[in-house]
Amino acid sequence: MIPDSFIQELLSRIDIVDVVERHVALKKAGANYSACCPFHSEKTPSFTVSPSKQFYHCFGCGANGSAIGFVMQYSGLGFIEAVEDLAGNAGLQVPQQIEARRQDAARKAPLTEFMARAAKYYRDQLKASPRAIAYLKGRGLSGEIAARFGMGYAPEGWQNLEQVFSDYQAKELAECGLVIDGEQGRRYDRFRDRIMFPILDQRANVIGFGGRVLDKGEPKYLNSPETPLFEKGRELYGLPQARQAIRDSDTAIVVEGYMDVVALAQHGIANAVATLGTATTAFHLNKLMRQSERVVFCFDGDNAGRKAAWRALEASLEQLGDNKSVGFLFLPPEHDPDSFVREQGAPALQKLANHPTTLTEFLLRELQGQVDLSSAEGRSRLIHEAKPLLLKIAAPLLRLQLTKQLAVISGFSQAEVEAQCGLKPIIPPGRSAPPRNIRRPQARSIEHRLLENVLHSPERAARLPLELIAGDHPEGAALRAIAAAIDRGALSTGGIGQLLEHFRGSEHESMLAQFAAALTADEFDEAAMEEEFNDALERLRHTGLTQKISDLSQKERAGGLTSEERQHLAALLAQKTTAAAAGRRDK
Ligand SMILES: [Zn+2]
Repeated sequence: MIPDSFIQELLSRIDIVDVVERHVALKKAGANYSACCPFHSEKTPSFTVSPSKQFYHCFGCGANGSAIGFVMQYSGLGFIEAVEDLAGNAGLQVPQQIEARRQDAARKAPLTEFMARAAKYYRDQLKASPRAIAYLKGRGLSGEIAARFGMGYAPEGWQNLEQVFSDYQAKELAECGLVIDGEQGRRYDRFRDRIMFPILDQRANVIGFGGRVLDKGEPKYLNSPETPLFEKGRELYGLPQARQAIRDSDTAIVVEGYMDVVALAQHGIANAVATLGTATTAFHLNKLMRQSERVVFCFDGDNAGRKAAWRALEASLEQLGDNKSVGFLFLPPEHDPDSFVREQGAPALQKLANHPTTLTEFLLRELQGQVDLSSAEGRSRLIHEAKPLLLKIAAPLLRLQLTKQLAVISGFSQAEVEAQCGLKPIIPPGRSAPPRNIRRPQARSIEHRLLENVLHSPERAARLPLELIAGDHPEGAALRAIAAAIDRGALSTGGIGQLLEHFRGSEHESMLAQFAAALTADEFDEAAMEEEFNDALERLRHTGLTQKISDLSQKERAGGLTSEERQHLAALLAQKTTAAAAGRRDK
């Protein structure tokens, strides 16, 4: 854990405007800055950066957060990496608590250096090998694309890397998977006579290699083993090169092999990435979903491809939000993306990618294939098979869609499907809480209004009458926690960005993020917010007063009050009369 005090210090030293401006051209608009949102496609700017709140917010897609949140969302970094990145730029030392991580980084640094040197060697060898060049040309790849992906060639021979590393016995060489120690203690190069595809991390360090044979040899593809640098289930081949195109198109295409990624890029489809010899993991999806609205899986048309697609579907169910979509593109059985795009051209593939099979279609199709819908047993089994999948779905609207369709296909009612699968009935949108950007003050509790308000100016929390705010519901608990943080000086410079970071990882995090995402433009009007805050406080006090009076009156009826309580009640009643008179004067 990085101590909160450090996060707060970091946020007070940096300016979110500078941080965002490194990546997005901002225009001054009143007190704030605006731009076209980097996280969704738009023509008119709805992305706002507030220097006073140290907060960014998009009124279009709801993206929002602090400077740290921006770096995470924009660069796809994790929290700690984003903090390190910003701290590095601000000339701050990240403190002791992440010493372990620093040690880890220190251990990885020499390995990264070894990988970089090997990558350069392989690139040089490609230039010197007419055979390897001819092979790539034969597959329709240009020198430009080969260079863009840093492709290389590991020549024939057993100890070529001796030319690069004077100490061929160095333990790091084995640690980063470049060599193999044979049974007789004889060491040799892992990659021999293969086209080399370097695998990069988010910071464009080489962390592993994929090697493909030129001819008929086996295995056709050989990857680096898992090493301290390289965890297969976490990395996606081609992501650093594809990031910009993914953002521009708001779509990431996931293919099975590095050759597919490179071939698609050669044909101008630059938003493709590949998993590395593993099934698609939730981690992969999470990474992609942070950078795009839509993920399209494009697997081979064969049986293995279908299986891979089903695994990807299962991983998607938990990760998918209602604002994101996942699609599946099935090529004809004889094709992989590489061969398809070479034979049919990029527009044909783009066309398919624009109208993929939806997750719902694919799921229903596969399930229906497993049962005989003409029989009652088959229709019951359909629901039985669907149950574990439905329960995994995190996105409520998607689940509702699927439940409805299952009901139609199976002949059960929607309520019966829900009951059978142990789902809580989902209230269709519209009857549930109104979308947050439509302001309906009556529908919101006082605590809700206060919390919205305090998010804008956390220092207002110091003015809250805490004795009137119950901590037994989420908004009240969050208000109390914010007031306590202000009170002990944990939130110094104000601003919602700082507030969100303070509560990152706490029980309040997700609710605060929801509130932050729902901020509307008029809430950036400071005077209106102050008025709203005072109004809510007034109502809170009034409700509290009324409640106390009612409690005491009830007690009086039930069995009488002590003389002290009677005095208290009289005082409260007087207070209420004064307040009412003041209220009338104000009107
Ligand atoms: Zn946006």
